[in-house]
Amino acid sequence: MAWFAESLVPEYRASREFVLGRIHTAVSLVSRMPRLLSLMDDGKVEYYAASRVVDVTGVLSDEHAREVDSLLADKLAAAAETMWLPHNLVRAVRRLVDKVDPTGRVERAAKANNDRKVTLEHGENCQSRLVTTMRSEVAAACYARVDSLARQRKRDGHKRTYDQLRADVVADLLLGNDPGATTPEASAVVYVHMPVDTALSISESGAELDGYGPIPGAIGREIAANPKSIWRKVLCDPATGDPVDLGRSRYRPTATLREAMRVRDRECVIPWCHRPARHCDTDHEREWARDNGPTSLTNLTARCRRHHRMKHAPGWTSRYDVARARLSITTPLGRTYTHTRDAILTPKPEPSDPDAPPF
Ligand SMILES: [Zn+2]
Repeated sequence: MAWFAESLVPEYRASREFVLGRIHTAVSLVSRMPRLLSLMDDGKVEYYAASRVVDVTGVLSDEHAREVDSLLADKLAAAAETMWLPHNLVRAVRRLVDKVDPTGRVERAAKANNDRKVTLEHGENCQSRLVTTMRSEVAAACYARVDSLARQRKRDGHKRTYDQLRADVVADLLLGNDPGATTPEASAVVYVHMPVDTALSISESGAELDGYGPIPGAIGREIAANPKSIWRKVLCDPATGDPVDLGRSRYRPTATLREAMRVRDRECVIPWCHRPARHCDTDHEREWARDNGPTSLTNLTARCRRHHRMKHAPGWTSRYDVARARLSITTPLGRTYTHTRDAILTPKPEPSDPDAPPF
């Protein structure tokens, strides 16, 4: 199933999570909620509402899910039109879930809690969301503590808003600083790609934050200049956009090579994967043992664990032309995609000849 979903990612032009969600919803509708599916067929329920119903019934056994499906269809047949709105539908389904499986609440909560997680979602304007999904009472207790620390700081005379203070307190608690005392600063190793002239404050062309994308030059300089920072500067040649200096001079040769490769690739080589290269495996494009592939920068690429395994999964073939940063990948559906990775920074055009015609 996982590799099938993977092959649909470029077909759908959507993320793997999206494709897996679609497959899961489709399978659940066909096997567990046939009457809801036929209501979709009749154009009475649209995809979003149906997918919410599938979410709410996801923790039920197949038998109980079919019971909810049947009760829901009966209820809808007699209900007012407003009942079909997704929000109302979901509320009705929650009640039906408790009705068909009243003793299963504790078990459902335990099952749902198996999916607790932390996700990092990059947003716009150099802002990202750190989302934690956990048991409600734990989340509520965490929020209460963050809120009380923020209020304490406000009483101490801090000018920041409550929202700002709460966000700062969360960051400080996670980073091990005094919560909310100052605006938090990162102390993690993150590569900031930057042209030499931006580092020297003579150009306003942007920098690149690993795993996020472009950030303004001023923020890149601020991060690089912070004495507490362990962010690694990666100086790039403004003419070619290629990395020229890792900001440190001595490594073991293998570590140097691996690091240079990671700095160059930045992400897993699979075009729809954005796993930062520092969390990826070091892959020999031509295999070291079988094909005499050298351990050199021209033969090493970054592949996340999943896509490293995919290399040997049936039906998948890929070829990475390291020199031209061009990956050709064929999926088990027989479709081939070719992707050329962008240069780390956009190379600057040659200075134009003032006497040349304007076009
Ligand atoms: Zn990957």
